[in-house]
Amino acid sequence: MTNPKIELHNRKVQEIARQMQEDASAGEKTHIDKGGVSHVVPLPRDQRRTGKPIRIKNLQDILEIDEQKQICCAEPGVSFASVLKATLPLGLIPIVVPELEGITLGGAVAGCSVESMSYRYGGFHDSCLEYEILCSDGKVINVEKDSFLFEMIHGSYGTLGILTKLTFRLIPAQPYVHLQYQKFSTFQEFQNALYEHCRVGDYPFIDAIVHSPKEFVLCLGNFTDAPPYVSNYRWLNIFYKSTQQKNEDYLSTYDYCFRYDTECHWLTKTVPFLENKLVRFLVGKFVLGSTQLIAWSKRLELLLRLKKRPEVVCDVFIPANRFEAFFQWYEKDFDFYPLWVIPYAFPKMYPWINEEYAKGIGGNLVIDCAIYGKYNGFKEVDYSQLLEEKTLDLNGIKTLISRNHFSKEKFWSVYDRSNYEKAKTILDPRGIFPDLYEKFHKK
Ligand SMILES: Cc1cc2nc3c(=O)[nH]c(=O)nc-3n(C[C@H](O)[C@H](O)[C@H](O)COP(=O)(O)OP(=O)(O)OC[C@H]3O[C@@H](n4cnc5c(N)ncnc54)[C@H](O)[C@@H]3O)c2cc1C
Repeated sequence: MTNPKIELHNRKVQEIARQMQEDASAGEKTHIDKGGVSHVVPLPRDQRRTGKPIRIKNLQDILEIDEQKQICCAEPGVSFASVLKATLPLGLIPIVVPELEGITLGGAVAGCSVESMSYRYGGFHDSCLEYEILCSDGKVINVEKDSFLFEMIHGSYGTLGILTKLTFRLIPAQPYVHLQYQKFSTFQEFQNALYEHCRVGDYPFIDAIVHSPKEFVLCLGNFTDAPPYVSNYRWLNIFYKSTQQKNEDYLSTYDYCFRYDTECHWLTKTVPFLENKLVRFLVGKFVLGSTQLIAWSKRLELLLRLKKRPEVVCDVFIPANRFEAFFQWYEKDFDFYPLWVIPYAFPKMYPWINEEYAKGIGGNLVIDCAIYGKYNGFKEVDYSQLLEEKTLDLNGIKTLISRNHFSKEKFWSVYDRSNYEKAKTILDPRGIFPDLYEKFHKK
């Protein structure tokens, strides 16, 4: 018997295809409008959402959860919070859960999301088995793991086709997570411990917070059924600060997955008084949480025009064998803390990375260094550009979620132009989605 949800899904996709054909003639640029908040950094005079919107807001349903096979099939607009609410009661969670509640399945694939299980499993994309993609000529195709188009939709940032359905793996989960914090005062000791835990794989969850050049906290998490207490960081208390104060902690699995959500990591640091308990008591319910914080920053977009530049908010993937060189530079020239560190093993080299450039990465382990909120209004230096240049110097990959500075030549020496164009010809034959370089560089 056909699943009625799938039948409804098929009708929704056909309607989006029809609307897309009607609204956008060949060559006319469009952008995907998935509704809700976007986890990209708001920019003054943002060009990333120009052109006609293709509205896919109604693709927000979980279609099937197969407990036996431990897989879930869902539409791209489903948030990870909704997935967890549906799977946790069954004792399952997605293999990779990006840490903010509002990140959606489609956005996580197209925008390269990772998290603390990524040292074992790669990014969320790597836990997916099949995608349904709507091409610009209205054709709907299904692509399986490891096929060329499947791999190319990862990191395509809405420039190739529209992901309309995803099938991804789940993993057994217990209701709580026990966190242990190992503390180090030198980079060397910290790095050794980080790499050793990644090698041995003794904890399912590994990430780290660098609070200062002399304060490194490795956060090692394990499932548990019977916590002696359960902490809460949803309102008055601040998770990232607790990792400095405590040596261990217990969270519900849901709260562990979204432990950085209340502060949107530590972006609340950039809002005067928002880390103050009294202020949090009075206004916390209306402003805390990544979705509310991002919605507020969008409302204040006009103010951005008064700023010289927005704060640096960016994830860069640094090859593990150059993490030390990166940190030496970071400590001297960048000097912004906390720095979030997530080990991330590429299960294989992605075809959207230029083959020559990929050779320079030298191994499959990279370290996602997430810089969230460095002030960037200085006259003499643009820290966003500086970070990009250093990342490329070290053969790293910079996610495209904020300001980008690459020249066209440099960009296509990191991203693989010939594979991108091959995928573009198949998925976007009418040329209605922007080119990857143009989308992120047009001023
Ligand atoms: C402040 C901040 C904190 C972050 N924290 C984390 C974190 O903790 N963990 C983590 O892994 N990542 C984090 N990220 C990065 C985040 O994972 C990516 O930006 C992700 O792409 C966001 O997905 P979204 O659902 O919000 O989609 P959007 O931001 O709306 O879209 C992201 C990109 O995907 C494209 N896209 C969206 N839906 C589709 C679709 N159906 N088909 C094709 N393309 C589509 C869009 O066009 C866009 O280019 C953070 C980013 C920011 C700005």
